[in-house]
Amino acid sequence: MGVVNLRGVSGRFWSKVNRTPTCWIWTGALGGGGYGRVRQRRGPAVYAHRFSFELHNGAIPPGLLVLHRCDNPPCVRPEHLFLGTGRDNMRDMVGKGRNRQGRLLGAENPAAKLTERDVVVILGSPKSNVEVARLYGTTASLVGLIRSRRVWGHVKAPRAIWRDGRKGRRNADQGKAGREGGKA
Ligand SMILES: [Zn+2]
Repeated sequence: MGVVNLRGVSGRFWSKVNRTPTCWIWTGALGGGGYGRVRQRRGPAVYAHRFSFELHNGAIPPGLLVLHRCDNPPCVRPEHLFLGTGRDNMRDMVGKGRNRQGRLLGAENPAAKLTERDVVVILGSPKSNVEVARLYGTTASLVGLIRSRRVWGHVKAPRAIWRDGRKGRRNADQGKAGREGGKA
């Protein structure tokens, strides 16, 4: 279950975003920690960066955080956001030395490096999650999430992996995907 009720909200959302050449800054209300807050017609306010992530990628899997590779809380640029666990968040903060300047740290941040093309290759690779993680400089847990289609669900898997024809059911078969998707 995601935070975004997509119908009609996208335009209103982006009208409150100032797109600089680097970060896209939320100009609406800010909440704790400097994160943007989006008021919904119904229900509680949600974080703007989580809202943006869902607009771009679909629902955030339960229990996962949306983190900033730019370390700039009001930024809602989809390319600057990535999924992680609370543990990833701690590691990320330590890795960045708690930088608060909004400096871009993409190349230094392992989870930020993946592209859609990488995800296609990861989905088709016979290598284990650990091996793939090492190749791409990311974590085995993230590779596992990709292969179980819990993140990057909008990227189509190579046909060979889904030869039993379940393609198109983005998140429905996540428990079974690991069987063919990887050894770990
Ligand atoms: Zn940013």
